[in-house]
Amino acid sequence: MNPSPVIGVLALQGDVREHLIALAAADAVARPVRRPEELAEIDGLVIPGGESTTISKLADLFGMAEPLRERIAAGLPVYGTCAGLIMLAEKILDPRSGQETFGGIDMIVRRNAFGRQNESFEAGVTVAGIEDGPVEGVFIRAPWVESVGAEVEILAEHEGHVVAVRQGRALATSFHPELTGDHRIHALFVDMVRAAR
Ligand code: GLN
Repeated sequence: MNPSPVIGVLALQGDVREHLIALAAADAVARPVRRPEELAEIDGLVIPGGESTTISKLADLFGMAEPLRERIAAGLPVYGTCAGLIMLAEKILDPRSGQETFGGIDMIVRRNAFGRQNESFEAGVTVAGIEDGPVEGVFIRAPWVESVGAEVEILAEHEGHVVAVRQGRALATSFHPELTGDHRIHALFVDMVRAAR
């Protein structure tokens, strides 16, 4: 069998550790990635949840924004959760001034979309391609996907709003599978990375 793929977790801000643990449990070699040179050493990349405005600012500061945009456009497999989903969007409906994304998925997203009274909640989510029942969706000031282009596959909705999508080698969820101990979505991403090698 092929050796395990090496998957980075963008370690500028957010729940990096939880993703490293989930990826290792899904049979990847997982490592934090902060510097542009480290992009050469990975087969795939997770962009964690956290605060997308901060991730965007730090990516600029660390000289990561442009190299990452280029690698993603060139086909680096990526998986974004929550703030990470926002960073993969081509467009944010309500960006902070100067907030730039990495792109990768032809979608428009709305930050903090699930509203104030409902800022954080959990709900079962049925995800296309994930077997053995719904995953536990942990939503924390979560975005939703407002609209998608023709190339984007909708994998899951919650209350009529799109919360998981895939376009080619890019995967994104509004919720946080890394916080649940259920590694099925990380395993799906590891499979995507293996298939891309
Ligand atoms: N609301 C946050 C943002 O705009 C995302 C929250 C999260 O990642 N849990 O980046």
